[in-house]
Amino acid sequence: MSRYVPETAIDHDAIFRRGGENCGDEDFALFKCPTCGHIYLMDYEVDTVYLDGADLSKRGDLNVSFFCVSCKKEMPPGPCVGTRAKEEFMVTWQELKTSPWSWAAKPLSGFGDEA
Ligand SMILES: [Zn+2]
Repeated sequence: MSRYVPETAIDHDAIFRRGGENCGDEDFALFKCPTCGHIYLMDYEVDTVYLDGADLSKRGDLNVSFFCVSCKKEMPPGPCVGTRAKEEFMVTWQELKTSPWSWAAKPLSGFGDEA
């Protein structure tokens, strides 16, 4: 599973530096649109979704129907982050590297999370 970006690799400091503060108790995770692969960052403490890696002020709410900003398809139901997330939502290091979120996580050396 090490080809996927684990939550523990997400760089919270970098997110805050770019204006990603939310409610002060952020739990970040990455997921992608299973249809088109567009990558999102989520603060699952409050179900806020950051839509654009280049502009963290663009946010959505997962409590309502969520439509992908890229392909306009509705996000399928079911957990998209956390240990119960379906594989179709998981983001690989390769996908992260070529997305606007490439800065948002760092491989942890020595834990098998290298790209
Ligand atoms: Zn999509």
